[in-house]
Amino acid sequence: MRIAFDFDGVIADDEAEAVFKGDNLEKFHEYEDKNSNIPHKPGPLADLFKKLSFLQKLEERERERDTNYKPIIRTAIVTARNAPAHERVITTLEDWGVSANESFFLGGMVKNRILSRLKPHMFFDDQISHLESEAGDIPMVHIPFGIANS
Ligand SMILES: [Mg+2]
Repeated sequence: MRIAFDFDGVIADDEAEAVFKGDNLEKFHEYEDKNSNIPHKPGPLADLFKKLSFLQKLEERERERDTNYKPIIRTAIVTARNAPAHERVITTLEDWGVSANESFFLGGMVKNRILSRLKPHMFFDDQISHLESEAGDIPMVHIPFGIANS
């Protein structure tokens, strides 16, 4: 089962999103760079992400015990962030003791390009505009949270 998450407004709260919306991309990068060693506060799906990560640790343990065991959960983060703002994502996940199998820091690239390759069984994002798949076959869930929805 592959589950993909946006970061801001989904795994993390909308603190950074508010800076981006209030100022611009340059100010956002400045702000995130300055705070790169401060973890974000949890967003609406932080708890789900943490629980999946915990299950993955159990799966990893099982695989060490039984080499035939195939882990069934895979997680991905698909975010519009890119360097230097990726640092704070890493800081946040490390602080929570969790990780994703894959992380995509897309910069300006449309999310659909990655999602159509990744083919997650579910993708969560707080921005409606990110939930438009040309392929049209990826289950996408809108998280109506934070400044992106005000
Ligand atoms: Mg977002």
